[in-house]
Order: sequence, then structure tokens, then C-alpha cells
Amino acid sequence: MADIYVRGKFVITMDKDRKIIKDGCVAIEDSRIIAVGKCEELDKDFKGKAKEEINAPRSIIMPGLIDTHVHLVQGMLKACANYKRLIPWLTRCVWPLQGNMTADDALAAASLTMLEMIKTGTTTFLETGMVGRYGPDRIIERVHDVGLRAAIARHVMDMTGYALEENALHPGLIESGEQSMGDTERLYRKYHGWDGRIFIWYGPRTPGAVSVELYREISAKARELGTGITMHLAEVLEDVEYMTKVFNRKPVEFAHWVGLTGPNVVLVHVVWASDKEIELLAKTGTHVSHNPSSNSKLGSGIARVADMLKTGVNVTLGCDGGPSNDNYDLIEEMKIAALLQPAVKRNAKAIRAEDVIEMATTRGARALGLENEIGSVEVGKRADIIVINYWDPKLMPMNDPVSHIVYAAHGDDVTDVIIDGKIIMRNRKVLTMNEEKVLEDVQKHARELFERAGVCVEPNIKWPIV
Ligand SMILES: [Zn+2]
Repeated sequence: MADIYVRGKFVITMDKDRKIIKDGCVAIEDSRIIAVGKCEELDKDFKGKAKEEINAPRSIIMPGLIDTHVHLVQGMLKACANYKRLIPWLTRCVWPLQGNMTADDALAAASLTMLEMIKTGTTTFLETGMVGRYGPDRIIERVHDVGLRAAIARHVMDMTGYALEENALHPGLIESGEQSMGDTERLYRKYHGWDGRIFIWYGPRTPGAVSVELYREISAKARELGTGITMHLAEVLEDVEYMTKVFNRKPVEFAHWVGLTGPNVVLVHVVWASDKEIELLAKTGTHVSHNPSSNSKLGSGIARVADMLKTGVNVTLGCDGGPSNDNYDLIEEMKIAALLQPAVKRNAKAIRAEDVIEMATTRGARALGLENEIGSVEVGKRADIIVINYWDPKLMPMNDPVSHIVYAAHGDDVTDVIIDGKIIMRNRKVLTMNEEKVLEDVQKHARELFERAGVCVEPNIKWPIV
């Protein structure tokens, strides 16, 4: 007896042999996968007998996607910081907006981002940058209640700069070392491990906002609690300049020096890395989150993903945020990741669709320390599964499901989402959220926030709106 039986055309299992099962089916009981195989075999046990049956003979079944770099509250800030490089993007637009957010604004924004992620096939994400003013408790509880799986990294800081820019941070976002460290541990004790879906991580701010002593303390504390750390690193050349000038170290060397490398660390962006730094990432088992849309839009550069993969670095994929992407569609992000490496290396073989799907599934699972639980469709794993309809002009003819997922599909092609054995979206309707209310709330809160912050009040369009 199964709780859910999913009948598809292809199952991209991502198991150790990377088997793709044609005319494949998946059975789920409670929160786990209990059978994966050819439908003609599984039908005997499960067809017509499960509590819920999803018949999708024109669909691809694959593991839920894992986004390793998300800013939940930035979902409200789309189009608010266009045409700016990172530091002015942060100091003139993004931070003033975030520093004026109320907890109600933040919850409305986070709900929007979650809704979008579910509707585009993301089932697990790593949030970076929760702070006290957003009301982290309510947001974490919302993540849990809508059924997503997430590691939530709370920001830790004790300085107010960004690289060489002093006092860069908006006053509304400033917290002390004691406060930000203490609150992270409080959240950890309250929520870490909740239903096997919620994890609390440390999210130190970027160099310039954290002292060397505090970085070391974060490293030790995360090790003591057995949890993860994620931090933006080497996103722009100003980061390299700062660390070279002040610490006489390259960014990855700096991270290593303060204890922020290792298998429990996800470094985000790492656009600017030397061969030596890439080797250090591989040697220490440090994970990288590649965010190609964000890095492109802000003119930051393109990370050396093909070189990192070749050197043995675990590279994963992230959408980053509303004002840098401007969506949270990891399927679209896969395409951009797949396009940029051949372009910059002038080598059509620089990366393959298989590499990119691994970045969005198995590699993401490993980065979160959840490789035994999620990232593949295998018996015994948690049932985090998405169903992608291919009976659509852009995905026909269906001659190569792997290539089509990366180069041709779009988040909107996801029809059904199952997380931890629960159907969260069925036929594109999200069952755990009131979609209409989420959209109405965000429109209202965004307007109020833009007025309060005095940023993004008018759209940055060259043409008249009449
Ligand atoms: Zn980010």
C-alpha cells in the first residue's frame, strides 16, 4: 500500500548509476520513496491502490530542485535596483529597502518567494541573511507550514562596512555580534531539525562587516553545534582588493584562515578565484553556490565553474534574489549556468546538461549535508519529487529529457510538487498557500515599503507611462 503513486514517462533518478527509467513510476509511503521502477512492474502492487495517484504519462519525474542561495525577503524587491554594480546596488537600493522592512513586509515577501519556488520546482533551499527585524521565527514557521525544506542561515555581524567602504550598512540592519550570535543559537535550539525539514545555519556577513575574531567564533560554534555556515565570498573585485590590502590574503585563503572552509561551509558566488584558491576549495571540501543570473546582471563576472568542477569542487546552483535575478526559477538558472561556461571558455564542451542537473540536485543535497536524504529518486530517500509536463511545443519532440530540462524547459512546466511525501502542488495549484492572498499582500506591502524607504517609488523606465 502506498500513500502516493506517480506514473510518468521518464524518471530521472539521479541514483549512483544516474539511471533514467523509461515508462517509470514512483511509489511513496509516509515521507519516503518505497519503490522506483518500470510502471508495468510497479503497477501490480500500486496501480489503483494508493491513496493518491498522479497519472502523468507525458511527464518527466525528477528529484525536487535544491537552490543553495536564496534571499527570501528580496522577493519583494524585483526591479528595484537595476543597472547598478554590487556596492551601489546594496548601499543605495537593497539595504535601504531591507533596513526599512517591517516584520509584516518581510513575511509577505518571504511568502511570495516560497510560492514562486514551489511553482518552479524548488523543494529545498538555503536562505542567506535572516536578521532580527524580519521576524525570523514567523518566517521559519511559514517555511515549515507551507511544506518546504530549508536551511535558514541567520546573519551574524559586528562591523558595518562592505570591503573598503566603511559604514556601508543601512542603520536599520545593524546588529551587534552578541545579539546576532545569540539569536542564531536561539533559533538553532528552537527549530533545528524540526520534522527533518528545517535547519538553522550561521550566515556571517561579507568581510568588512565581521571581525576576524567573530568569524573564528562562528566557525567554532557551528562545529560545536554540528551545523552549517554560508557566506558570500569574492563576488566582486572589490572583495579581492579589500582582503589583499588588509589581510594580505586572497578571498578563499582569507576564508580558510578564519575557519570558514570545510564540508559544512557553502561559499556563495566565488566569482574571483585563482587556481590556487580553487585547489584549496577542493582540498577542504568547501561547497560553492554558483548564481549566474545575479553575477551577470550586476556585472560582477562569471565564476570559473568548469574549472572548479574539473578540480573536484562541489559546485551547486542558486537564484540569489529578487533585485539581482529577478526570479527564483532554478530551471531557468540551470540554462544560464549551462550557457555561460561555453561562452566564456569558447568551448562548447565546457559543461554538459548532466553536470548542471547534478548541481541543482545531488550536489545541492551534498552541500546541505542532506545527501543521504534528498537529491535523488531512490528507495529509502525522502520523497521530494517534481513532475514536469513535456507535452508542450517548447519541449517537443521529446527525444532527450536531460537536454530539454536544462536548455528548453521553464519553471512553469512543473505541474506537481511533492515534498517529504506530501503533495504541495497539484496540477499547478499550490495546496498549502492561498495564492491570491500572497499576491495581494505583497503588492500592498511593497507599495508601503517603497514609500517608507523612499526607494523604488517610481519604476526605472526610460519611457513614459501614460
Ligand atoms: Zn546573495
